[in-house]
Amino acid sequence: MSGKSVTRRGFLQTSAMVAGGGVLVPRGLWALGQDAAVDVPRSNNHTGYEKVEWKARPFPMAQVRLRPGPLKDMQERDRMYLYMLPNDRLLHSFRLTAGKPSTAQPLGGWEAPDGELRGHLAGGHYLSACALMYASTGDESLRLKAEAMVQALAECQQPNGYLGAYPENFYDRLKNHKPVWAPFYTYHKIMAGHLDMYVHCGSQVALQTAQRMAGWAIRWIAPLSDEELAKVQMVEHGGMNEVMFNLYAITGEKRYLDAGYRFEHMRFFDPLAAREDKLAGLHSNTNIPKVIGAARGYELTGDERYKGIAEFFWQTIADHHTFAPGGTSNNNEGWSEPDTSGTHLAAGGQECCCSYNMLKLTRHMFGWKPDARWMDYYEHLLWNVRAGTQNENGMLMYYVPTVPGGWKTFGDAYDSHWCCTGTGSEEYAKLVDTIYFQDERSVYVNQFVASEVTWPEKHARLVQQTAFPEEGRTSITVHAETPVAFALRVRAPHWAEGIAVSVNGRPEKAVKGSDGYLVLDRTWKSGDEVEVSLPMKLRREPVVGSPELATLAYGPLVLAARMGRDGLSQDMIDGSEGPSMDRLPALPLPQFEADKSGLWVKKDDEGSLSFRTVKQAKEMELRPLYQVLDERYSVYWQQARKA
Ligand SMILES: [Zn+2]
Repeated sequence: MSGKSVTRRGFLQTSAMVAGGGVLVPRGLWALGQDAAVDVPRSNNHTGYEKVEWKARPFPMAQVRLRPGPLKDMQERDRMYLYMLPNDRLLHSFRLTAGKPSTAQPLGGWEAPDGELRGHLAGGHYLSACALMYASTGDESLRLKAEAMVQALAECQQPNGYLGAYPENFYDRLKNHKPVWAPFYTYHKIMAGHLDMYVHCGSQVALQTAQRMAGWAIRWIAPLSDEELAKVQMVEHGGMNEVMFNLYAITGEKRYLDAGYRFEHMRFFDPLAAREDKLAGLHSNTNIPKVIGAARGYELTGDERYKGIAEFFWQTIADHHTFAPGGTSNNNEGWSEPDTSGTHLAAGGQECCCSYNMLKLTRHMFGWKPDARWMDYYEHLLWNVRAGTQNENGMLMYYVPTVPGGWKTFGDAYDSHWCCTGTGSEEYAKLVDTIYFQDERSVYVNQFVASEVTWPEKHARLVQQTAFPEEGRTSITVHAETPVAFALRVRAPHWAEGIAVSVNGRPEKAVKGSDGYLVLDRTWKSGDEVEVSLPMKLRREPVVGSPELATLAYGPLVLAARMGRDGLSQDMIDGSEGPSMDRLPALPLPQFEADKSGLWVKKDDEGSLSFRTVKQAKEMELRPLYQVLDERYSVYWQQARKA
């Protein structure tokens, strides 16, 4: 385990009790397969337990395929990464814990044999990522590799249902309030990985393992009083409420619903239910998964309290606790006072897991009430803090720095295994899951991504061709056996002014509905082609609470001022050490003097996404943040003081 991680873990061990005071529970992580039950096709008869159905639902992932483009490249690099991890190495600590022999070389980083989070990726995220990748690509050999993992893990499961890469006595430490990292956090990942293997790959063994694991957890918490449980819940426990709700959604067994209630973290939920922002000082990624659990709770029970919690939380984060690129956590992986992000620029902010989880939560919001604003937010995070957090070798980031002069750092294939490695490996495996949604007579084009979707109910297939965001346009072609009536709903993004639509080359007046989608409702015949131009403009964005600061965006893309590689060696970018500014101090914020339009930058020529400053004391070049991988940068600018 890297020195950095040891430091983090050490901090956690000494602060586990302190955390009982409601301050940070360090080291967030988290993952979770996605909305397990939500994505199960209706024909599988698994959605009968929902009290609240989504008004629009994603197309099953198996019906959506990426076409060549930047997202397809990301998916492919992730697929290669999943193949790089040998099953025997992933299984090593599970086997030793179960008293079975293993001669495999142990993994390092947070999966090291003495790592207190071991198993979170090996038996959790990894299964989720493989299941999602199978759904996204149909890669049968990857499914078989993951199914072999499921089988081997089942052989490690104890007769009492316990499954872990460390012994049960970690939970004794938890119960006795002795320092321990985050046992239920890991437990949640492993359960979620198995549920994803059931949902996306049909693994009955995985479902049995998850149910037996749930049984163990239910028996573990049963004797605890509410007060004792509340104490235990001060240690990070991921989305235990959510995974129990998802198990109920799949099986209909009420004991899982009850367990979901039991794992609910009242102390965190109560202020949210009262619409109070008491987030300052709390660890971000510890808590976001609980809210996803609240969203599932609402869907399965109809309880409006859960809905209120999820909606208030989402709005509070989006309005008051978000950095310009879209991430939410500060340098302590936590939240600060509202509207203070400009005073918390750091190397270690915007933890990737938080963005991953906010995207998941956003899908629920959209499902309840389809509206472009959710998908604008989704797009913003997708292009600024998810794209560009994976390097050419498929290695993943932990934080996206906001400090001026910060740079991106990428983990190691075998010796990192951070929380964000886990969620990142899932993210790039499920890039197809939100591009298109549907209701009975509409298809929603939420994201502009080269892709295609089959729609068997309409005997139709839609192909989206685009080089977005390299260019501000997309086209959608209908393929259908016979003419078919449906409404094509295309998101009109908040950043696009003067959107133009044409059908088969003829300009068309598309009506923008109150949901922010352009609606083309007609009978379509095969070969019909819809062209949508999405003009992007350069604009200045304010930093709420810091009027002297500003950022720049072009369409959905946050721009980064390039600050070169001086002092930066490759080993500071790659490797298991993780992000650190210890070896290179931050740089001063770039200064700007705006012209009459409020800007100080212009775009280079038409075809490229490069920009440069105009009439500034210091000339600088800018690129979209997602394209800046191996140099120092700043997305924040400071207004120059008049001499
Ligand atoms: Zn993380």
